[in-house]
Amino acid sequence: MARPPKRRRVEFVPEVTVFKPAGIPLIDMEEETLLLEELEALRLKDLEGLEQEECADRMQVSRPTFQRVLSSAREKVSRALVEGKAIRIEGGTYRLAAWRLRCGDCSYEFEAPAAMYHRGAGAACPRCGARHGRRIDEDPRAAGRRMRRGRCGRGWETDEEG
Ligand SMILES: [Zn+2]
Repeated sequence: MARPPKRRRVEFVPEVTVFKPAGIPLIDMEEETLLLEELEALRLKDLEGLEQEECADRMQVSRPTFQRVLSSAREKVSRALVEGKAIRIEGGTYRLAAWRLRCGDCSYEFEAPAAMYHRGAGAACPRCGARHGRRIDEDPRAAGRRMRRGRCGRGWETDEEG
């Protein structure tokens, strides 16, 4: 029985959405279409280096679903590289994650798309316009990992092995 597909949680939206082999007009070449949730799977697993279970949690899907999305993503990217195809990143069954933030200047609390942070843009406080928002809904495990990598100054206990 067909159920409506569940939308996968995605934190990142790329600015560059088309990659193509040099020297061949895009119109003459085949494309692989990488879905937004497939890019997110690659990003979490291969770039952030998270365990599969945590990747599934972040995208709010089951582990088998995550594995399926990841395998599909890797296959598409590999095929594009091997067969000289372009890659276009678009579409999918996803929803954009929002983070809860507290302004560092005026303490106002607000929500902003996580995607803005991954692009390094920050999010402006709707009350005072400062871009010093700090995340207040963060999973302590994720914060712990960042702390170990030296990007976060203080505060969180971590239950992971370092
Ligand atoms: Zn503010």
